[in-house]
Amino acid sequence: TTAPGKVLRSADSRPLCSESDLPPSRHFIDGGYVGSTSSRVLDVVDPCSERVLCHTPDGTAEDVDRAVAAAVTAKASWARLVPKDRSDALHAIANRVEAHGDLLARMEAANTGKPLAVAQDDIAGTVDTFRFMAGAVRAATSMAGGDYLDDHLSVIQREPVGVVGVVTPWNYPLMMAAWKIAPILAAGNTCVLKPSEQTPVTTLKFAELVADLIPAGVLNIVTGRGDVVGARLSSHPAIDLVALTGSVNSGRAVARAAAEGLKRVHLELGGKAPVLIFEDADLAAAAETLRTASFWNSGQECGAACRVLVHESVADRFVEHLVREAASLTAGEPAVDGVEIGPVVSKAHFDRVRGYLERAQRDGARAALGGGALDGPGYFVAPTVLVDVREGAEITREEVFGPVVTVETFRDEEEAVRRANDVPYGLSASVWTENARRSHELPARIDAGTVWVNSHLALANEVPRGGFKGSGYGRDLSIYALDDYSRTKHVMHNHAR
Ligand code: NAD
Repeated sequence: TTAPGKVLRSADSRPLCSESDLPPSRHFIDGGYVGSTSSRVLDVVDPCSERVLCHTPDGTAEDVDRAVAAAVTAKASWARLVPKDRSDALHAIANRVEAHGDLLARMEAANTGKPLAVAQDDIAGTVDTFRFMAGAVRAATSMAGGDYLDDHLSVIQREPVGVVGVVTPWNYPLMMAAWKIAPILAAGNTCVLKPSEQTPVTTLKFAELVADLIPAGVLNIVTGRGDVVGARLSSHPAIDLVALTGSVNSGRAVARAAAEGLKRVHLELGGKAPVLIFEDADLAAAAETLRTASFWNSGQECGAACRVLVHESVADRFVEHLVREAASLTAGEPAVDGVEIGPVVSKAHFDRVRGYLERAQRDGARAALGGGALDGPGYFVAPTVLVDVREGAEITREEVFGPVVTVETFRDEEEAVRRANDVPYGLSASVWTENARRSHELPARIDAGTVWVNSHLALANEVPRGGFKGSGYGRDLSIYALDDYSRTKHVMHNHAR
């Protein structure tokens, strides 16, 4: 076992963002901040210092109703805009976020503990999502149709769905919100969004920053708990579609509540990405990629390369490479130069990740690197590589969502494919091989919404992201997301009369 590294602390005691930058303890409804119907608040905690950063309202069903009413009122005029006008608004939003990118990145880092460089990457991704959707909607909303019956002309139109309820997670707070808001607004819908109770600050700030660029009521933010605010969004009769990025349990709760009103549902749930490394793979390149793909954002990434299945003949050599790569990661506070890995997001999640590590090691797994927490304060977990993992062990089946990779071995291709698919999830996977046949055949046999070949976690706004099986349904990003937030209408004219 290699000893876990140190946590680099900032010598500069100034906070990443000042109190005046942080949003007030209010919702953002109908173009401005408004108070909650309840006086209860939720603590927002900095996971590096374990100190309370600010508070947000512990929102109520009545708060949701007020936001939905605003979104309903705003719906008709926003939907009527021609694509170019909505596109112009989205470009303006992208420019505004870019202009405030430094502030938003510092706020995100303060709330999540992620390194500033990672937060800056989230903001750049957010900007590009708005630019992509601004362009895509002008190409995608064009009408189509033709003369399919005698004397009849068909016009096929794409319409907005209506009011969309959105629930987002804490791992990439603003970027996950952007993955929903950009296509939802581009397609002509209005929206009520509940950010994760743990990481609401950048989403509220975003709404404030872009308020003058869109009509009041088009985008509303209600903070609070999933089982109250999220549940009301999922069951509200005036909401037409609910989109959630979150855990499988939350996905089930949303789908169940939405079923009553037959609402459309869009779910991006967890993942447990298998990484299949064959004997002919470039082992050093695979390990170098996994240094990022497994540990980016402290492994709190639904596509994280967390479950290596490597051919038994090259397993020892691959583990050596992977341990060397992971051991070179620098853990620390967000603003320290060169820091690559921060804490996990909360005390509850820290305890959850440590619980998985303890049970895995009791179950016979050996930590070739890390295996537990790093020194506090802060919820730091050591980059961990677990070997000698029993097939079917909890740690190979459940989503840990921390900086933890398991390594198992396989004997042949059949076994590799079987074990890759033998989990409830189906979000992403990668195949590492220099063999052309394998690189073409295997992606077709793996049940995952994204399969990388000799890569992992590479992402662009042009390509869809989403899962199969327990990872949900619906696609984020790309033209497919615009489709998901649109409905199709056929109008047929009889021109003989
Ligand atoms: P979570 O499910 O606990 O919370 C996600 C959101 O759902 C939060 O805002 C929460 O308040 C809300 N929620 C909880 N219960 C709800 C209910 N009954 N009704 C409506 N909303 C409810 O998940 P998390 O811990 O915040 O995020 C991590 C999870 O998200 C992981 O499982 C991860 O894989 C997944 N995730 C998936 C993607 C993807 O694109 N597939 C991206 C990021 C995160």
